[in-house]
Amino acid sequence: MSSERDTPALTVTCPQCRGPSLYAPENRYRPFCSERCKQVDLGAWASEEFRVPSSPTDPTGPPEGVPLN
Ligand SMILES: [Zn+2]
Repeated sequence: MSSERDTPALTVTCPQCRGPSLYAPENRYRPFCSERCKQVDLGAWASEEFRVPSSPTDPTGPPEGVPLN
């Protein structure tokens, strides 16, 4: 079988291992070549600087003590 789609497989360089990575919808880990590379990169990124300011209370939420009905 031959596909008539004129979208050739695009290969990019994996940011993690510098290997060839298929940049296509079937590669769910793009631009990484594999799940492992993606996890490694995300782990480093998260531990380096990315911090989620977790706020237990939503300041934009409804005030307490107000009956809903
Ligand atoms: Zn890789």
